[in-house]
Amino acid sequence: MSNLWIEALEPTDRRRIEPHLNERPFVQGQTLFDAGEAVDEVWFPLDGVVSLMTVLADDRMVETAAIGREGLVGVTCGPLNARASSRAIAQIEGSAACCPADVFSDALSKSEAMRTALSRFTENLLAQVQQTAACNAQHRLDERLARWLLTLHDRADADRFDLTQQDIAGMLGVRRATVSEVGALLEDRKLIARGRGWVEVLNRAGLEKASCGCYRMMRAVSTDLGVPLPKFD
Ligand SMILES: [Zn+2]
Repeated sequence: MSNLWIEALEPTDRRRIEPHLNERPFVQGQTLFDAGEAVDEVWFPLDGVVSLMTVLADDRMVETAAIGREGLVGVTCGPLNARASSRAIAQIEGSAACCPADVFSDALSKSEAMRTALSRFTENLLAQVQQTAACNAQHRLDERLARWLLTLHDRADADRFDLTQQDIAGMLGVRRATVSEVGALLEDRKLIARGRGWVEVLNRAGLEKASCGCYRMMRAVSTDLGVPLPKFD
């Protein structure tokens, strides 16, 4: 397993950070860091998926982006912002190579190519966050659920994910009973299968048709910006 963002760097740039990487596993549901916390490490997922969650004052939260081994977690606002703007939660268990934030900042200051690579990633992330905000406000829940499952499927290595109805409800910002009803719609169409604590993608092409246009728009942006998703790399 490797991180695609690191893999695409020039060898000189890779050497600036690779000796400092520390591999760390994460389990599903684990908080990597919370909103408002000082971020002292940058996480480069090697497998698994991490969700960025926007947390409201009453502690409810909604996912605004998902990151797998195409990218990095912990630099959501650029190198000038040392505090996390969102909560990072492991959505699918995996592991990450962690780099001390000061080592990463130092490497960035020495390499224009690395700054460009980071900009590609953060522009793509911003597009994802914007699209998700509009999608959450405007699109039907079954379309949003299909879009969200595809986002995970693009970044996961398997068709089946460990996810409870509660996890899904939390991601989409709705009640658990509602997720159950909407999941049944996709299940009846044989697009997904569900069990206690898991969901499996059965028909990916069908799920793409069932999702709103947001999924295709996000895919197009990542292709245009040169941020290949693990599934299509
Ligand atoms: Zn949408």
